Amino acid sequence: MMPTISISDAIGRRAGLSSALLGALCIVAELCFLLPDLLVTRDALPFYKAHIALCRGILQASIFATFALGALGAVCARTSRYGLTGLGFGIVAMLMGGAQAEAIHAGGMRSWAAGLDYFVLELLVLGLVFIPAEALFRLRRQKVLRQGWQTDLKHFFVSHAGVQLLSFAALLPAQMLFSWAVQLDFQKAIAAQPLWLQFVEMIAVVDLATYWIHRAFHQIPWLWRFHAIHHSSQQMDWLAGSRIHPVDAILTRAVAFIPVFVLGFAPAALYAYLVFVSFHAVFIHANLRWRFPGLRWAISTPQYHHWHHASDAEGIDKNFAQFLPVWDLLFGTVHLPHGWPKHYGVEHFQPPETYLGQLVYPLRSPGGMHSPLS
Ligand SMILES: [Zn+2]
Ligand SMILES: [Zn+2]
Repeated sequence: MMPTISISDAIGRRAGLSSALLGALCIVAELCFLLPDLLVTRDALPFYKAHIALCRGILQASIFATFALGALGAVCARTSRYGLTGLGFGIVAMLMGGAQAEAIHAGGMRSWAAGLDYFVLELLVLGLVFIPAEALFRLRRQKVLRQGWQTDLKHFFVSHAGVQLLSFAALLPAQMLFSWAVQLDFQKAIAAQPLWLQFVEMIAVVDLATYWIHRAFHQIPWLWRFHAIHHSSQQMDWLAGSRIHPVDAILTRAVAFIPVFVLGFAPAALYAYLVFVSFHAVFIHANLRWRFPGLRWAISTPQYHHWHHASDAEGIDKNFAQFLPVWDLLFGTVHLPHGWPKHYGVEHFQPPETYLGQLVYPLRSPGGMHSPLS
């Protein structure tokens, strides 16, 4: 009898938790439907308008799933807290207009808008892909809501909701400092190549540029203070990669954009690249045991990047490349044994677990922080 009860409880808890998380996302999505001028990414608005039936359908299905999972959680789990929370969120989403919510155009279009739509869609898609994948193929046994998940979710929220601001800050240095290097004829020749070739070229040149800024973040003490926040996660999963200090994110993107700006790749190749790398960046942090034996020296895999996050001595300052291990091979920083690291995190300090604490920590505690090489 006992195993039946615990299986039912486990299913109920997972259903309740899924309902609460999905219900919270539905409420944020409702806000996007109600206040698109304030909360929806400018560039994406025409796409949503052209596919409004699809958007409403996804919202409708999500609210339905929130209620169904919430009911399952409330009935099956020993503690019905998550299930009832999910049901409550579902009711709030319905009261906000459900799938028929109409936009309130109060102040007209602004030049800046929060990217709340980007946050909701990315979290929905990534959660749907990675939470089940990590449950089925996990490397380590750990909870979905492991230590620090709320902090990482706040990092995820800020980097997605503030995407327009972050992108603007990251594009500025290339435009201000490297206009002299732009050759229009050369850019036309680059953009005229097949898209797949531009995609491959972009991976190679951006990866080379980010290899060096990433290495600088490890070797220059004042830069390490910011990057150490990314390394402070002691448990790896799909959300852990979001833990990036905004200074780290802006500087890395600014350097990454320099070759893209100078070479002038076609926008379609750039968008394909951005979608691909944003997914790949999540993937390499995931709690997945897949080793990809035939590919692991060709592209960065979870095992490759987990070694970059290792606090084991053999993994310190290794595997800087985001995508292509060839750069670590060439510059002598590769480390890819058969096994996995024992421990993750940073050796000499532990930043606070709160989001604001992590934001100000690099500015306040220079004495207590050391680069791994210093
Ligand atoms: Zn690093
Ligand atoms: Zn990482």
